[in-house]
Amino acid sequence: MLNNHLRSLATTINQHRLVVLFITIALLMPFLPASISRTALHSAKNTLRPLAAARSPTVVLGFGLPFGLFASTSKQSQNEMSTNVKKSESEWQAVLSPEQFRVIRQKGTERPGSHPYDKKSDEGVYHCAACDAPLYTSKTKFNSGCGWPAFYDTVPGAVVRHEDRSMFTTRTEIVCANCGGHLGHVFKGEGFGNPIDERHCVNGISLTFKDEK
Ligand SMILES: [Zn+2]
Repeated sequence: MLNNHLRSLATTINQHRLVVLFITIALLMPFLPASISRTALHSAKNTLRPLAAARSPTVVLGFGLPFGLFASTSKQSQNEMSTNVKKSESEWQAVLSPEQFRVIRQKGTERPGSHPYDKKSDEGVYHCAACDAPLYTSKTKFNSGCGWPAFYDTVPGAVVRHEDRSMFTTRTEIVCANCGGHLGHVFKGEGFGNPIDERHCVNGISLTFKDEK
């Protein structure tokens, strides 16, 4: 009898410790780099599953509330955007490579200088790697020296801009208008000498080059 009481007391204490731990992580999330926040969130979700199965309302609320509040801010633009191509995240996961999924659906960034499209100068059209919509032509591509493919203009209407407030700053995120896939960011007034003075800094892995005129 006493044993049972002690065991149930120990379980309760452990659950409360976990709740405090995850609320702390949740409160720190806006101050962490996006990649770390996502890892923390991912671990929290994985931990939440077995705990939710235990049906403890305190634990479920303790996790769900703070993570619900902070998690929604970073994915909002992509998920709430009205697009022609509509797929669930698990459907995207099935058709994209793990690295494509990380960059295109989870707004990741490929390592600078890692993609061959950065230095590619062939004539052709760059399509969305997720939905195949034409996004950029080689005519507007230039070498920025930044380590990612750079373009100063898009195929008309192919790219949509969103405000991105992650990473301690406000940037303009660019996504494919047809499927909402993350492409990269756009920067203005850097003086690269192109007609619009903009740089669309695009992850090479978000693109598929086609030898078209
Ligand atoms: Zn697309």
